[in-house]
Amino acid sequence: MAPPPDWKLSNKSNVVLTAAEKGKYGVIAAIAYNIEHIIGFIKAAEVAKSPIIIQFFPWAVTYSSGLLIRTAADAISRSPLRDHIVLHMDHAQDYNLIKECADNLPFDSIMVDMSHYEKEENLRKTRELVAYCQEKCIATEAEPGRIEGGEDGVVDTEGLEGSKTTPEEVDEFVDTGVDALAPAFGNMHGEYWSIGPQLDFLRLGQIRKNISSRVRIALHGTNGFQEDLLKKCIAEGCSKINVNRLVLDDYYDHLKANAPTMSQTQLMTEGTQKVVDLTVKWMEICGSAGKAV
Ligand SMILES: [Zn+2]
Repeated sequence: MAPPPDWKLSNKSNVVLTAAEKGKYGVIAAIAYNIEHIIGFIKAAEVAKSPIIIQFFPWAVTYSSGLLIRTAADAISRSPLRDHIVLHMDHAQDYNLIKECADNLPFDSIMVDMSHYEKEENLRKTRELVAYCQEKCIATEAEPGRIEGGEDGVVDTEGLEGSKTTPEEVDEFVDTGVDALAPAFGNMHGEYWSIGPQLDFLRLGQIRKNISSRVRIALHGTNGFQEDLLKKCIAEGCSKINVNRLVLDDYYDHLKANAPTMSQTQLMTEGTQKVVDLTVKWMEICGSAGKAV
């Protein structure tokens, strides 16, 4: 059965991110690795009355046979903020895994990341997989150029150099039918070198101009970002704000400090609260607090 022609307008990921772009705020898109993170992110959304995107790396699908994703979907469906909490697959790089996610898991959107291929192949595969996802009314994100580095849970693309997105290739990627683009403009996955992030805002400005509001802009690689830098990225048009350690560092510190002595239940309960508190803080910084109404 063909999807309804206006499905893009009612897709939850598109609704949440379009509102953010219009409202000039950013929506935290947080990587969940376990159940404390899932519970913590949903609680944070409820506390801050903020939209949030809960996202997973492909690792979560294979590790748990999809259980973590179905659990997140179940938790979202029981939240009063269910219309403002998006379920997203981040950096899906494998053809069969993308089809598996689209066919069998309740994702609102999937990042079809073919950036490990050269541009023509990236475009061709992106177009095909975007069409596959669209049949199921699933929004998509793609990566023109190649964001350097790697994170815990993404297939390693070590040996491949990053390459910045050119404003010219924006049109080609928008034409594939994606709903969001993740440009490479000096941002890096994982940890930045000691000089810190060196972002090319001139390039981002040109990319944004060429996108001309046809798709949303996703910011990747925010480990170690200071408040002001994140706010500048949002002011420059990024509405999907991918975070990893930015909202999980306090949780990891808690585990390191208390795992040897605390009971499992206390460790999990307090750990979840660490996730809530730090996520709420970044929701406030991104300007999304109070927007889920
Ligand atoms: Zn990324």
